[in-house]
Amino acid sequence: MVQILPVLPTVDEHYCDQRRYPDGIAFVDGQYLPMSEAKISVLDWGFLHSDATYDTVHVWNGRFFRLDLHLDRFFGGVERLRMELPYDREKIESILRNCVALSGHRSAYVEMICTRGTSPTFSRDPRQAENRFIAFAVPFGSVANKEQLERGLHVAISETVRIPPKSVDPAIKNYHWLDLVKGLFDAYDRGAETALILDTNGHIAEGPGFNVFLVKEGSLRTPAFGVLPGITRRTVFDLCAEIGLSATAADICRPDIKGADEVFITSTAGGIMPVTRIDDAAIANGHVGPVTHRLMYLYWQKHDDPKWSTPVVYP
Ligand code: PLP
Repeated sequence: MVQILPVLPTVDEHYCDQRRYPDGIAFVDGQYLPMSEAKISVLDWGFLHSDATYDTVHVWNGRFFRLDLHLDRFFGGVERLRMELPYDREKIESILRNCVALSGHRSAYVEMICTRGTSPTFSRDPRQAENRFIAFAVPFGSVANKEQLERGLHVAISETVRIPPKSVDPAIKNYHWLDLVKGLFDAYDRGAETALILDTNGHIAEGPGFNVFLVKEGSLRTPAFGVLPGITRRTVFDLCAEIGLSATAADICRPDIKGADEVFITSTAGGIMPVTRIDDAAIANGHVGPVTHRLMYLYWQKHDDPKWSTPVVYP
């Protein structure tokens, strides 16, 4: 008997009235601003060349989820792109907290960005550019809506190949999304709701803003190559270790995923989200499976646990 658990807990209503800035708050060039006033130069290489790295963490019921892991990934990306942040880690953490607190949102999508910036002398040498730090907190958003979380997403596998890791290292979270957006249009053309695209070897890679897992005979598998090491993906590994499920990172080909018992995707934007249809066929019996349900439940439960989450102090 499968126990149906709540898919997405609701945010504490009491705090909804305290949302001072419904569209959120940004921090740009040293100033906190309402989102509508947050602007940067069109000459910023982040905009002109996608020369930027970023990270996204979420706040749920007034608590950041795994903020340290997001900061580790962000700082790692900045270093590998040979950028320099104008602030240290402690200051960036306080900027993120301030953006959320000033916005008043109890549940938020919080982004930190470092762009190459601009060169004061219009030099084409990236070493001459002054790197820029931007952050913002906006209302929480999810890849899947409530109905999709309950019934499972319909995904199409696109022929689009993700940009090769030798060109752009996927471990540095980046805005090279033309492949992912092409995949999305392919999926919409085929009547699906979102897409999975391929790695350079023709295996399943990831989708627009998410990693993917399959469950087969009680064991989990997620692609190892050519994907962003997602924090939600990592959280699934941590949850599996806690409850004694086997989870590995290894290649997944089309027949593997279509013949799986369960499939789900993972993202900071929505957590663990079930997939019940790929291309023209249902996954197993077409219903959200028990392993997916259990992991979704545990994932949201961890959001109140001080070992996994830290509080925002609201004014
Ligand atoms: N893959 C890509 C390309 C992403 O952009 C994202 C998140 O934005 C993910 C995977 C999921 O990563 P995370 O779980 O850290 O949100």
